[in-house]
Amino acid sequence: MSALLNDVDCFIFDCDGVIWRGECLIDGIPETLDMLRSMGKKLVFVTNNSTKSRAGYVKKFTGLGLSVKPEEIYSSSYAAAAYLEAVNFDKNKKVYVVGEVGIQEELDLKGFTHTGGPEDGDKKIQLSKGYAMPHDPEVGAVVVGFDRNINYYKLQYATLCLRENPGCLFVATNLDAVTHLTDAQEWAGGGSMVGALKGSSQREPTVVGKPADFMLQNIADQFGLERNQICMVGDRLDTDILFGKNGGLTTCLVLSGVTREETLLSPENTIHPDCYMSSLAELLKIKEK
Ligand code: PLP
Ligand code: CA
Repeated sequence: MSALLNDVDCFIFDCDGVIWRGECLIDGIPETLDMLRSMGKKLVFVTNNSTKSRAGYVKKFTGLGLSVKPEEIYSSSYAAAAYLEAVNFDKNKKVYVVGEVGIQEELDLKGFTHTGGPEDGDKKIQLSKGYAMPHDPEVGAVVVGFDRNINYYKLQYATLCLRENPGCLFVATNLDAVTHLTDAQEWAGGGSMVGALKGSSQREPTVVGKPADFMLQNIADQFGLERNQICMVGDRLDTDILFGKNGGLTTCLVLSGVTREETLLSPENTIHPDCYMSSLAELLKIKEK
């Protein structure tokens, strides 16, 4: 563990389960981040939650008493817009969004025209003989993320875009099966919206969130880092730790989120981090030793 502190130049932190749980900051996090910054470590925050933009996350961090810069945040909403930019998506075309404001704000910042979004939620389809739902042939990409206003109109619209134009890009922010909107149960995650569209379009999306490598490529490029200088810290084996392992990073699981120690150590688990600790705040104790 102390090797971790000495050898690594950059820490990538997953957010929910590492920095906060829902709206609550995890104990000892401000002090731990301050300590790492005082040691000169680069800190990056990565989240698969597409409902907020980078600017939205800066507000969330600030509200929790943490100071971060927008460029230290990699949300899957930002990654979706960055992906369209990376593939030189034609700005004369439109993006149809099945998702929330985070994706819309990031598309705006990169100058992409978009339709859809949360407000597309309340349209009733009046079915009658011969009725075909119209859609805009200028839509060249469908971006799908977590959408609490998902409805049949949006699914049909996005399906038409994807099926009638094979050149239309299909981008998914993340495939998380479930999320923890409350601590009382698991809730259907962004993967459920993507799954619906995979089913109807019979197409595979390009996933930009964890565990896909896209955000990692961006982070390594932005900060000029080699992958062996980076440690990924996360609370999920199948997104965070896999993201780090696939990308050639050092990996550290924290037990402050969704993974229990029994799950990690069970013979069924095939994803093994380099180390694990109860919470990120354990780094404070390691430094003191
Ligand atoms: N997607 C949604 C909608 C969420 O609410 C969350 C966690 O709050 C996530 C994904 C996972 O976020 P993270 O990658 O920060 O753990
Ligand atoms: Ca997490």
